[in-house]
Amino acid sequence: VRIVTNYFAMNREDLEEEYQSLKRIYKGYCDKGLKLDMSRGKPSPEQLDLSMDMLSIRDYIGETGIDSRNYGNLEGMPEARTFFAQILGAKPEEVIVGGNSSLNMMYYLVELGWRSGFADSPRPWSAGKPKFLCPAPGYDRHFRVTEYFGFDLVTVPMLPTGPDMDQVEKLVQDEEVKGIWCVPLYSNPDGYSYSDETVRRLAAMKTAAPDFKIFWDNAYCVHHLTDTPDHVLNILDECRKVGCEDRPLMFCSLSKVTFPGASVAAMAASLKNVEYILKNMFSMIISYDKFNQLRHVKFLKDANGVAAHMEKHRQIVEPKFKTVLSIFDKELGDYEKLAHWTKPNGGYFISLYTQGVAKRTVQLCKEAGVVLTGAGAAYPYGIDPDDTNIRIAPTYPPLEELETATHLLCVAVKLATVEKLLA
Ligand code: PLP
Repeated sequence: VRIVTNYFAMNREDLEEEYQSLKRIYKGYCDKGLKLDMSRGKPSPEQLDLSMDMLSIRDYIGETGIDSRNYGNLEGMPEARTFFAQILGAKPEEVIVGGNSSLNMMYYLVELGWRSGFADSPRPWSAGKPKFLCPAPGYDRHFRVTEYFGFDLVTVPMLPTGPDMDQVEKLVQDEEVKGIWCVPLYSNPDGYSYSDETVRRLAAMKTAAPDFKIFWDNAYCVHHLTDTPDHVLNILDECRKVGCEDRPLMFCSLSKVTFPGASVAAMAASLKNVEYILKNMFSMIISYDKFNQLRHVKFLKDANGVAAHMEKHRQIVEPKFKTVLSIFDKELGDYEKLAHWTKPNGGYFISLYTQGVAKRTVQLCKEAGVVLTGAGAAYPYGIDPDDTNIRIAPTYPPLEELETATHLLCVAVKLATVEKLLA
């Protein structure tokens, strides 16, 4: 029989007893002298090893005769544009293949909007008091980019179907709202994927700003962890259908396919946007690393090649996700209201939601030698108003360490909750 414990219905005496027992268990972890890092979504060394063969590829002449070692072709190697067109769901001429970071491309485009505006802007975004929509919890570094430039960050609740579209549709009535951050597939940190309705509403909504942009960061578009992957509609297609094809800017990268920080990033958008962006990029750079672009295409070949390569990642990553989820289930599942968590079909993260003790839980883990992502990191300005969310990044640590860290985390959630109830 399943025995359900409810701390929130316990009397003080029983809570005190539970507190002492949890403290003993917690001290046991502290005495182990752990030194584990689960703070960032990074591939493990074993995953990085999967791509080492790419470095033996020395061919440098592209299929149209371009010498990838030299300057030129700011828009990217033609075969790389075709490759990313498949990945992003666009035409090759709608793709710009960039350098080693998609975040860097996003930063550049926020800056372009801020300083000059886009081709459809009546004035630069910085001319007024611009705002940016931030579905939260979300990717901390997205929020940081728009905070850095001086946008007002407007929080929109993230639902299992994507951003709360009732709120988004209301907020875009304000002309100062210039854009929204989106991670449409396996969102960071919840692992949620946008529903068809969400994508269609984002495409069709009337925005007061004529130059409103959707930053569509498809960072996890090939990172499936099950045989029944999530699917998200193509935002460029949906926008085109309703006559708003200049609204979306789509991004992806091979950071977690090959080497983070040494891979290839790309973007896709309407031809009008691509032309405008390339014209403006001209003042910044002569060409990106086409040698690396070609190496990646020769190694991964096409969308099928990427899928086969990602299957190897899955063999390593899936057991880690399963380990965390099964420990949560065993250790937290029989506690009424204590915590709930997401069970993603892909991506890099699991979200754990506590009863307002995220900060204290992270602190307890840290004091026992396990570093987690800082509580609140997934919210604009780093502030989780209810102090609930903890982002779990299971990929980097070896399985055994991950098990220990997750057990400790479960003890820390209970200890922090009981502590709060006794306070
Ligand atoms: N976008 C999302 C949603 C991410 O989670 C990350 C990395 O964690 C990035 C972008 C960074 O991508 P890149 O290495 O291409 O800059």
